[in-house]
Amino acid sequence: MVSEGIKVKKNVDLGPLTTLGIGGKANYFFLVNTVSGLSKLLKKIGPRPYILGNGSNLLIKDGLIKKPVIKLAGEFSAVRQKGNVLEVGSSTLLSFLIKYSLKAGRGGLENLAGIPATIGGMLASGASSFQTTIFDYLKEVEVIDFKGKLYKIKKSEINYKYRYSDLSDKVVVRAGFNFPENNGKSKEKIKNIVKMRLAAQDFSLPSCGSVFKNHPQAAAGILIEQVGLKGKRRGDLKISEKHANFIVNLGKGSFRDADYLIRNTKDIVYRKKGIVLEEEVRRWS
Ligand SMILES: Cc1cc2nc3c(=O)[nH]c(=O)nc-3n(C[C@H](O)[C@H](O)[C@H](O)COP(=O)(O)OP(=O)(O)OC[C@H]3O[C@@H](n4cnc5c(N)ncnc54)[C@H](O)[C@@H]3O)c2cc1C
Repeated sequence: MVSEGIKVKKNVDLGPLTTLGIGGKANYFFLVNTVSGLSKLLKKIGPRPYILGNGSNLLIKDGLIKKPVIKLAGEFSAVRQKGNVLEVGSSTLLSFLIKYSLKAGRGGLENLAGIPATIGGMLASGASSFQTTIFDYLKEVEVIDFKGKLYKIKKSEINYKYRYSDLSDKVVVRAGFNFPENNGKSKEKIKNIVKMRLAAQDFSLPSCGSVFKNHPQAAAGILIEQVGLKGKRRGDLKISEKHANFIVNLGKGSFRDADYLIRNTKDIVYRKKGIVLEEEVRRWS
């Protein structure tokens, strides 16, 4: 324990904390349970740390990760109704929030169902699916900057777009949402969305979801399929046969092999299609 509400560990394996299952060891890993503890920690540790959500959009290098890694828990997973606003801790999983909102007769998140993420991670990554974004019913967020200052930001002050949000320059502590009544159709809608997701995406093996952002001219998966890369393998990593924008881990996939497949894909798509693919996955090195 370094201070109240914080546990520090050395040499924590990061691979198992990601959905792709790749990554070396964190030199220092802080499990932070209180907002005041996080503020003190950020003041103390100086260099900008990595914040780990559910690890579903991460490609972490092998070997030692020197930057401190922070995982939020405890107070950061609290959910409570305050008047019309539902206050959601940033480490809350989307799946939990959807169930909670359904029970409370609220909807609005149906189209996001199935994204294996925390609310903080979604807000920091500009997550969206089926024309719904995590920002749609957001009212405000509470954040801590990397100097340890806690403050609120209104939705209108956040700069966000497809797979981008300036909240990734800070630590999201909690988010206030104003969800609409669910008019009794939410459950059916969620069932259909999950069905569509399972039909289109590859959930059979570990992955980090889409590796590249879609291009205005075409979906990245279509471009990768058109240049003949579906099923391409390097070591234990493979471009999914089901969804060409997914790289799946067949067991012992490494950062090096993922990096090779990503570079090779970019190169071939550029040569054959003249389109530069941009990475959606976040790299930690
Ligand atoms: C099978 C599968 C399907 C997916 N489908 C979709 C989809 O349909 N749409 C979509 O948008 N994404 C999708 N993703 C990608 C991923 O789930 C999202 O990007 C998600 O928002 C990442 O959230 P996370 O909690 O896992 O964050 P992580 O992957 O842990 O982190 C992502 C980024 O957010 C930052 N971060 C995490 N928590 C905080 C915080 N509290 N404060 C500040 N920064 C923070 C991290 O530092 C990192 O930069 C999918 C992934 C998988 C594996």
